[in-house]
Amino acid sequence: MMETLTQIREQVIQCTRCDLEETRINSVPGMGSFNSDVIFVGEAPGRSEDIRGEPFVGAAGKKLTEALEASGIKREEIYITNVVKCRPPRNRPPNCQERDSCADYLQREIHLVSPKIVCILGNTAFNSILGGNKITKHRGKIMRKDNQLYFITLHPAATIYRQELSKTLKSDIQKLFSIITELKNGRDIPVDVEYTS
Ligand code: URA
Repeated sequence: MMETLTQIREQVIQCTRCDLEETRINSVPGMGSFNSDVIFVGEAPGRSEDIRGEPFVGAAGKKLTEALEASGIKREEIYITNVVKCRPPRNRPPNCQERDSCADYLQREIHLVSPKIVCILGNTAFNSILGGNKITKHRGKIMRKDNQLYFITLHPAATIYRQELSKTLKSDIQKLFSIITELKNGRDIPVDVEYTS
């Protein structure tokens, strides 16, 4: 029988694949619409997310919600998750071992939601998913790997004290949803970077 997102959620909640299980309060499974056209992928939960067990509910989440609302999108309409599902102590970036042990949860989430495009938020997700870096150089671009489209943008946390970056995030998200409209209308979109594997 086909796996469900609810099953992945239960596995994430009970996960003991890496040492973050010792320091977390809650694991943070992905959340949102299972039929979404887009999955947003951040780095790892922070303090608020660890307390609530939900992704992007702290200060960075507020910025993401604002950027979505500026494009007329409600959070419930989309699916949000992270590369790593548990909070690293003191919010340090997740290490390779933590990212590797969590990687198949994200792959399975993408497989099940089957979105038209995956929106990568910030360098850690960019690096983990596509091996990329220099988000400020690549943000706003569309990439394709193994037949899956990706859109690259800033991490919302980077915009917290930087008004100009808030504007950039908002305009990127506006571009993302216009791409989604094109895709839904069956139109081809220009891909900036094609990964060959
Ligand atoms: N930052 C992230 O990358 N993810 C969250 O869920 C919250 C903050």
